[in-house]
Amino acid sequence: ARSNAELEQFAFIASHDLQEPLRMISCYAQLLEKKYNDKLDKDAREFIWFIVDGAHRMQQLINELLIYSRVNKNVKPFTLVKGQKILMDSLKNLEFKIKDTHAKVNYDPMPEIIADASQLTQLFQNLINNAIKFTKNVPEVNITVSENLDEWIFSVADNGIGIQNDCLESIFEIFRRLHTREEYCGSGIGLSICKKIIERHKGRIWVESEVDKGSRFIFTISKYLSRE
Ligand code: ADP
Repeated sequence: ARSNAELEQFAFIASHDLQEPLRMISCYAQLLEKKYNDKLDKDAREFIWFIVDGAHRMQQLINELLIYSRVNKNVKPFTLVKGQKILMDSLKNLEFKIKDTHAKVNYDPMPEIIADASQLTQLFQNLINNAIKFTKNVPEVNITVSENLDEWIFSVADNGIGIQNDCLESIFEIFRRLHTREEYCGSGIGLSICKKIIERHKGRIWVESEVDKGSRFIFTISKYLSRE
């Protein structure tokens, strides 16, 4: 618990303090491009493009690190939330990706549950985003919900590339990725954010998968969360 708290604190400070110098790099690179465009040759413009692209990716990484470090920080209280609205919000946030990839997303009607609405939206968004991303086919995503006495059980299944057996647990660790950025973009932070969110909701998250067939991410949320 202590090393987790330290990691969170470190992630927060590092990501927060990195923002300012990064902003400077990207601002001045863009200024160079704008002001001296007609004086620069093709090579120089390409080099500036690499700086801007690198800075942009680093900004995304920092944003995700900040989300990771804030899962347990100044959190909103649990409230009764409409699962259906949460799912619709996360699909809306992925609207362009879903359109671009012609993904088909099927879902059960979602229940009302006690949870942190913005964290639950983030959770669905990360899992659906991965379901659409890690595939060579037209993505098909199936989202289900069931319940037992103590918990809600959700699943997000895809028809993607799948995950080999010996990596089913390690992918939830921060920065763990099974592919290069050239194959599939990403930073390896998404699933560790999911895990943290689920831990706050007193649940569990795991994945079942078959290589080349697809993956099913399953997570539970306790029914005993109290509205704070
Ligand atoms: P990112 O998506 O930024 O790489 P994540 O933490 O979301 O980071 O995922 C970690 C790794 O787990 C991914 O890089 C990928 O190798 C694997 N992974 C996650 N979701 C899926 C999925 N639906 N199908 C196949 N592999 C996945």
